[in-house]
Amino acid sequence: MAESLYDRYMAAARAYREHEQQCTDCSSKSRCETGRRLYESFARLQDAHLNWLRKRG
Ligand SMILES: [Zn+2]
Repeated sequence: MAESLYDRYMAAARAYREHEQQCTDCSSKSRCETGRRLYESFARLQDAHLNWLRKRG
């Protein structure tokens, strides 16, 4: 069974948080290449998830 949007959103959030904790190049002001990619993926899924919640009402 495919993962739900929420599962992917949570996984992306976790991946990004874990990277940020371990990566010395990532901070709240700047991100490394990997951190940026993880953050963009997380932000996209977060938007999609919030849109879904909004439509659902
Ligand atoms: Zn990083």
